[in-house]
Amino acid sequence: MKLALHPNEARMITVQSYLDEFGDGLAPGRLPQARCPICHRPLLLIAARSARIRPRFSHDTHKRARCPLVRNGDSPEEITVAAQPDSLLAERNLNRFLGKWQWHLDLMRHAHCVPSLTIHRFISLIDVATHRNLWAYPDLREECVPFVLLSYAGFMRGERGYRTGGSWVRFWFDASVRDVSDLHVPRPHPPLFFRTHYARPRATPLPAQHHLFHIEEVSLAPGFLDRPVPQVSVTDMEAFWARLARRRS
Ligand SMILES: [Zn+2]
Repeated sequence: MKLALHPNEARMITVQSYLDEFGDGLAPGRLPQARCPICHRPLLLIAARSARIRPRFSHDTHKRARCPLVRNGDSPEEITVAAQPDSLLAERNLNRFLGKWQWHLDLMRHAHCVPSLTIHRFISLIDVATHRNLWAYPDLREECVPFVLLSYAGFMRGERGYRTGGSWVRFWFDASVRDVSDLHVPRPHPPLFFRTHYARPRATPLPAQHHLFHIEEVSLAPGFLDRPVPQVSVTDMEAFWARLARRRS
């Protein structure tokens, strides 16, 4: 991979910036290791001195790891919600979300997320959140919700127009986020969120980890709920309210 976490700072670095900073001390065993942006394990630097192969970061392939960036590894567990079922609280949080659904949809359709996200997929992700008890999380921060929904979505069709191409995309929090509470407690370093790109598989309907070819960080910056009301098409508007009315009837 071309991007990693700095060895001892909470920021992303490219292979080149890593080489610029540490390249002079390229001695086996003495190099501070960059870390995987998702699972935080130390990474090897491959082909650092090669003139033929482009240098890159890589996991130690001899160790099994639960990380989407390991070619034949396992996916991380889904994010949990450590909250007791509470229908009144859940109703209140859900209604607050529904009161600004256009802002959430707009964020999830941003160029850095999934511009082709359909209204039906958006609605189905709200249902997934209900199923996983997200709305019953006390003091649920509304600005976290669209990112949690994206992480629930699994593989999604990418589209033409992504600068980096790719037929499928998937979203991941870094390993410091295992429960939705990790997005709410004060912490020294903010959580990270990533969009990964996968090539279209030939033999299977969905990609596997070895189809991944690109990763980029997605900003979790709050503030999108303060913007002016986003434009939503009449078709999407009608589909949303029709579905909502059906669910409540
Ligand atoms: Zn990893």
